[in-house]
Amino acid sequence: MKDLINQIEDIGCKVSPNYPMKKYTWLRVGGDADFVVEPNSNDEFISLLNVLSKSNVPWVVLGEGSNTIVYDKGISGVVISTKKLKKVEIIEETKVLAESGAILGAILNKTIKAGLTGFEFAAGIPGTVGGGIFMNAGANNGEIKDVVDTVWIWLDGKEISIKRSEINFEYRKSNLPEGSVVTKALFNLKHGESNKSEQNVKEYMTKRNSTQPIKMSNTGSIFKNLPDIAAGQLIEELGLKGFSIGGAQFSDLHANFIVNTGHAKASDVLELIEKAKNEALSKRGIKLETEVRVIGNKEK
Ligand SMILES: Cc1cc2nc3c(=O)[nH]c(=O)nc-3n(C[C@H](O)[C@H](O)[C@H](O)COP(=O)(O)OP(=O)(O)OC[C@H]3O[C@@H](n4cnc5c(N)ncnc54)[C@H](O)[C@@H]3O)c2cc1C
Repeated sequence: MKDLINQIEDIGCKVSPNYPMKKYTWLRVGGDADFVVEPNSNDEFISLLNVLSKSNVPWVVLGEGSNTIVYDKGISGVVISTKKLKKVEIIEETKVLAESGAILGAILNKTIKAGLTGFEFAAGIPGTVGGGIFMNAGANNGEIKDVVDTVWIWLDGKEISIKRSEINFEYRKSNLPEGSVVTKALFNLKHGESNKSEQNVKEYMTKRNSTQPIKMSNTGSIFKNLPDIAAGQLIEELGLKGFSIGGAQFSDLHANFIVNTGHAKASDVLELIEKAKNEALSKRGIKLETEVRVIGNKEK
């Protein structure tokens, strides 16, 4: 392990040992990662992926950690954080080239200022380009797939580009090749009117702020909506809105959000998830699927 860490530091990346993942993720739960490593540039990112993929140490890539829950027993191995890979460039008038760690909200602000429209769907989604593409993030009647032109991925030691038409996006799913890592993306927007876009974003945010528990730590929607019923409505109908285990609670504002009321453990959150899944199946015959990703060392 020491050799590997030396190799990673030689690339130029910052290495933080025993990193508390409750400080990293939006829900503020979970144990420590053995190491969090932050590349400073896309070249460092690629070199790091090449080094780690040749080692036998497990690794995972995270953006903002806004859709991720880490088990209380933490993460063995390396978390690659894309938080420093934030470059966003407007090219050819209406196209946007963004690194994997660029925040969706920052792209939204930059493009509105430049008189471009198309990224308004992302208002209020706190993730990055990498996490957003991996999850096909969406809101406000749009999804990231609607504006993606090209995605660059690292796969098996090479950075390659994939056109939008070759990516089979689904609801909160990108179906990118197994093991691939998003390194950057090109988005296709249109000329628009800044005032109109700003007004739309204001309306989206007003709605979000009044219907979602934005003042408490949460991780967005816990379950995917179902074709016939929104997950929040189902949880409410099961009588679980406001129900809590330990420090985790199905929000009494929006039942598809779990909030950390102060000292939640990942196990509290996961118990709530299991309870909703079991009750949905036994009482309504419905199989709930989580939207949120759970990573790390599973409890025994
Ligand atoms: C308050 C709040 C509101 C939210 N609202 C919405 C919403 O309206 N719509 C919506 O869709 N989501 C929403 N989310 C969820 C979340 O913001 C999105 O899923 C977002 O796209 C996740 O991005 P991230 O960078 O935080 O991903 P992370 O949580 O860091 O990672 C999520 C997954 O993506 C993978 N990943 C991350 N970066 C890469 C990369 N470079 N290459 C390959 N895989 C990668 C990770 O391994 C992980 O499996 C919300 C979350 C919160 C906390």
